[in-house]
Amino acid sequence: MVSEIMRDFSKDHSSLALNTATLGHNLDGQGAGWSSEQVIDACAKRGYGAITYWRREVGKRAFEIGQRTRAAGLTVSGLCRSPFLVGPLAPPTRSAVLDDFRASLAVASDLGASCLTICVGGIVPGSHSMTESLKQVREIVAEVADEAQSAKVKLALEPLHPAYGGNRSCLVTVRDAVDMCEQIAHPAVSVAIDVYHVWWDLTLGQELLRLGGDRIAGYHLCDWLADTQDVLLDRGMMGDGVSDLRSIRKAVESAGYKGFCEVEIFSAHNWWKRDPNEVLDICLERFRTVC
Ligand code: ZN
Repeated sequence: MVSEIMRDFSKDHSSLALNTATLGHNLDGQGAGWSSEQVIDACAKRGYGAITYWRREVGKRAFEIGQRTRAAGLTVSGLCRSPFLVGPLAPPTRSAVLDDFRASLAVASDLGASCLTICVGGIVPGSHSMTESLKQVREIVAEVADEAQSAKVKLALEPLHPAYGGNRSCLVTVRDAVDMCEQIAHPAVSVAIDVYHVWWDLTLGQELLRLGGDRIAGYHLCDWLADTQDVLLDRGMMGDGVSDLRSIRKAVESAGYKGFCEVEIFSAHNWWKRDPNEVLDICLERFRTVC
């Protein structure tokens, strides 16, 4: 009896959000090259509820783009993202990490974004240790948490699929993300759940109940393609893969989450090559029918 708990999106897509990565804007030379204004207008016209931006797109125009988004009747659901906090892709020193973390928080604040996504980064070089890497992440997030709360921006720890464990995220399970949230125990620190990273995890429901809906800062939609060619840039459109989208949303909503559902599809060889108008139409149709 899923329908008793879950929201019905079949006739109401006001909870649908676009992560602009879906239109391929997050990499140079990809996508149709639409301006933020074009994206805002195209989403508003279709009745999307919110947009999540990438830091490199908004640059120094964060305040202006945030205002423009709200003027069109949309919410800024988030900003991607913090720098990697640890691991081989992080800035070279702890103070450089903190400086860039604070800079990303300032952009999120200027945008009026409700959360800043955190991809925590991979294993601390030479450590061979998940435990030590997660400990360093915890220290860095805790250090910035008060500032995030003052800025009214939630820090959204996003556990990534274990395939990213080495270089992009030593936080690979929802269990570890919930544990970190509890250990930091700060109202600004929360978790983001992305279908791509959790679709395989049968403990999702019980872990999210442990967390509670008010500490879920975002829910990201896409699909895992059975024959995926590239774990970074070959995400599927909802309905084209193997994820049990309804069950995953049921787990998120049963924990109390009532926020936006944000389509986030990195797809260098398929969706990024299409007309953004077509992509936005298909996202909306799939949201209403399979999510
Ligand atoms: Zn995500």
